[in-house]
Amino acid sequence: MAYKGNNYQVKAKKFLGQHFLEDETVAQRIADSISFKGYTKVLEIGPGMGVLTKYLLKKEGTTYVIEIDTESVEYLKNNYLNLAPRIIEKDFLKYDVSETFNNEPFAIIGNFPYNISTQIVFKTLELRDQVPEFSGMFQKEVAQRICSKEGSKVYGILSVLTQAFYDAEYLFTVPPNVFNPPPKVDSGVLILRRKEDYSLPCDDKLFFRVVKQAFQQRRKTLRNSLKTLELSDSLREDPIFNKRPEQLSVQAFIALTTMIENDK
Ligand code: SAH
Repeated sequence: MAYKGNNYQVKAKKFLGQHFLEDETVAQRIADSISFKGYTKVLEIGPGMGVLTKYLLKKEGTTYVIEIDTESVEYLKNNYLNLAPRIIEKDFLKYDVSETFNNEPFAIIGNFPYNISTQIVFKTLELRDQVPEFSGMFQKEVAQRICSKEGSKVYGILSVLTQAFYDAEYLFTVPPNVFNPPPKVDSGVLILRRKEDYSLPCDDKLFFRVVKQAFQQRRKTLRNSLKTLELSDSLREDPIFNKRPEQLSVQAFIALTTMIENDK
């Protein structure tokens, strides 16, 4: 650890995506973005030296943190004594959340390591029955992509799959100079609030498959990119298959999946 003022500071490690936030106002705004409505627990991914954790601990809920970096875990144990029993020293992507939360609902929050941020979103989508709210900081472009609508250049797999289950709101942009070390790009904070009724009228697995396959070849029509689904001749003639994936709203993707499911 490096010595800085009266405190030992964690030395930033690039391979762990460590960029420590130094702007307290931004940390507080992220912590304040979640509502604790309908749940009492929150899991922070990648707390580092706890800039965001500090504000979460002031809230009425119970804060858990998961951190892969031993040095950060040491720092947290020394500086947030009450948090110690709720520090999970593990890789979030490999972590079985039922070990901590059983089937209980919890929110996810963080200034995420950017190298795994999309994987964090995909894992959250798998956990959607347990995760009513999700808030955090991403590379700005990724945050914009998650929140974007059909017709936008950045609309893609992540936008459609996320918005099928959550309302996505882009909150604010954060410049590089408030981090140590500064990242090369702007950052963006977003919040996902699970929809009241987030069950799909079609098969979930088929929906994920259709969306992923459609966007694998963004420039092609759906008729072309969905060839391997072996659609009937009559369904293939439907005008929706003349479209390209970025023209389809989330609802249209759900309708399309339903049509494919019923195609006999
Ligand atoms: N939230 C802190 C740190 C952000 S940097 C702040 O705002 O200052 C990202 C953090 O995620 C680092 O502390 C890093 O060690 C941690 N991290 C990286 N990969 C992780 C993983 N797979 N699981 C859990 N934490 C991880």
